[in-house]
Amino acid sequence: MDLSVIVPLYNEEDNLKLLYHAITNALHPLHLNYEILFVDDGSRDSTFARAAELARIDSRLRVIKFRRNYGQTPAMVAGIEHAKGDILITMDGDLQNDPKDIPIFLDKLKEGYDIVVGWRHNRQDKLITRKIPSRIANWLIGKITGVPIKDNGCSLKAYRANFIQSIPLYSEMHRFIPAMASIAGTRIAEVKVSHHARRHGKSKYGLSRIYKVLLDLLVIKTLLAFFSRPMVGFALAAMITGLVSSAALIAALFEAFNGSDQPTGVLFGLGVLYAALAITLLFWGMLAEIIYRTGDLRREVLASLAAKNQEAEAKSLGT
Ligand code: UDP
Ligand code: MG
Repeated sequence: MDLSVIVPLYNEEDNLKLLYHAITNALHPLHLNYEILFVDDGSRDSTFARAAELARIDSRLRVIKFRRNYGQTPAMVAGIEHAKGDILITMDGDLQNDPKDIPIFLDKLKEGYDIVVGWRHNRQDKLITRKIPSRIANWLIGKITGVPIKDNGCSLKAYRANFIQSIPLYSEMHRFIPAMASIAGTRIAEVKVSHHARRHGKSKYGLSRIYKVLLDLLVIKTLLAFFSRPMVGFALAAMITGLVSSAALIAALFEAFNGSDQPTGVLFGLGVLYAALAITLLFWGMLAEIIYRTGDLRREVLASLAAKNQEAEAKSLGT
């Protein structure tokens, strides 16, 4: 199959039919073998019923249903896991993204990029609660990952399936896919997309999203910093703490021998405290190392690197 279009939906009953027609109208002239995956993220309205009704008429539409609301990223991930296409497109289900832009994404992938990211250059959202936090987040993500992307939060993105299916995603992580993928040396392109104001239904997010995005960013920063040898960072911290501890202990001894009337107990206490901290840091480093060596993350990153190498080899063999 050529293409899967993945759309997470949470309480989008009034957008559903319009969305379905917008997608099929955009895809029809392309003569591709495609599927549409609607992921109902535990909607409390008639989103699922309406989607299921459309799926009965159109076999190219598949509907995945969550029992409760898990969030946009898990919904996207479910779609990605079930997708059969070689190319995956993700987009919002509220018609803020425009399916008419899909061909631009396909063209970019044909040029050899692995991920194409939309840029809502004319974004139709609130300034204070949306556009400004998003600007700051994009700037931060660019600084931290070294991959300057103008609009990480734009859901309209296109991926080669083998890449995206090997990247672990959770929380609000769908915004960091390009940054995460950069670890595996992925080629990323950006294209300008249209953006419309939401006409039906309500936005599902408030300011609380900022907090989650910041936490995710911290995780990614840590991943990138200690990527292959997490022990290195911890050992460095342990060494510095160990030095402080030794200095305090030596100073305490020195004072004790000199019969100084200053309270050496404080220095001694500090020395012991820092020594304990150094040992704890070393243990954390070892744990981090074990987790990295046995955990999913390493497997998934290695898998994505292997996929990349295979592809490069296939290309150099001219297949
Ligand atoms: N969404 C979802 N689960 C959620 C929240 C949102 O599947 O818990 C979907 C929602 O239906 C929409 C997309 O994610 O298709 C983007 O959500 P929204 O439009 O509320 O975000 P905004 O555009 O305001 O950032
Ligand atoms: Mg929206």
